[in-house]
Amino acid sequence: MPSNLAIRTQGLTKQYGQAFAVEQLDLEIEAGQFYGLLGPNGAGKSTTIHMLTTMTSATLGDAWIAGKKITDDPVAIRRTVGLVFQDSALDRTMSIDENLQFAAALYNLSPEQANARIDELLTVFGLQDQRNKKLVTLSGGQRRAIDIARGVLHKPKVLFLDEPTIGLDLPNRRSIWRFVEKLRRDEGMTIFLTTHYLEEAVACDHVDFIQNGRLEQGGTPADLIKQLAETILEIDTDKSENIVNQLASLFGDPIREDQHLSFKIIANDVDFSALQKTLGDQISSMQWRRPNLNDVYLWRFCAPDTMGSEK
Ligand code: ADP
Repeated sequence: MPSNLAIRTQGLTKQYGQAFAVEQLDLEIEAGQFYGLLGPNGAGKSTTIHMLTTMTSATLGDAWIAGKKITDDPVAIRRTVGLVFQDSALDRTMSIDENLQFAAALYNLSPEQANARIDELLTVFGLQDQRNKKLVTLSGGQRRAIDIARGVLHKPKVLFLDEPTIGLDLPNRRSIWRFVEKLRRDEGMTIFLTTHYLEEAVACDHVDFIQNGRLEQGGTPADLIKQLAETILEIDTDKSENIVNQLASLFGDPIREDQHLSFKIIANDVDFSALQKTLGDQISSMQWRRPNLNDVYLWRFCAPDTMGSEK
């Protein structure tokens, strides 16, 4: 195994009864990468993280973190990885300091090491003056920041973020990402992210997709967007059938959501203004724009011929 791989898996599989939560997963993630695993609910993302962090054992296959096979010394693996889950690992009745000291003790940090690291992280998160405040008095964004601080107290080589910003508003999501980016830059951590907010995954070096436990090869967000289409055409209409009949032969079948149609257009010479005039009052609105990672995701998981795969 090349020494610069932070994560490697070979045929990693988790079976519950007859069902495969994750099937034959082969991954190679280089050290320092910001990696995103995207897929619908129930696709196998959390199970993958649980296996890689030794929280659950694989049914089949092998995995290595920073060159170490995870089954050889699970305790050492747990010291090498950091975890931030959707559900907070913090005790809301305790203060920031108490929560972080407790976690530091679990990682066997000395009191001096713990204090220095807690100071350092609270400074990054702008919470150095709140150290003795109880968590229950903090905002959701501040609590999430403390969750992340807890996950990186022991300077892990690989940080797993499972839907880290779920439920947060946009300003809080942005500040969480600023902290994570700073940690990544300063400490060279590899980051393994799952998220439903695809705009967050645009910053990834590489994203893959997972569906029904099977990995689907992805790429860099920029390449995936470029490969998807030149333009996304969105039309609102109460005459969907008419519009699809007129446009499907030109652009293919759209994704339909009630009265909203979304076509992906490969050609770069379409005169959209003329098209809008032709469609006239059959449509209530029409817009055309560059594709983004949300479109890549939608066309992979909600495209006309895959409808119903999102659970
Ligand atoms: P995701 O994180 O992508 O939403 P999960 O990894 O949580 O998906 O789940 C993958 C599949 O495995 C789902 O079908 C889920 O119901 C199933 N699964 C997860 N954990 C268990 C479990 N402890 N027992 C049985 N089935 C499970």
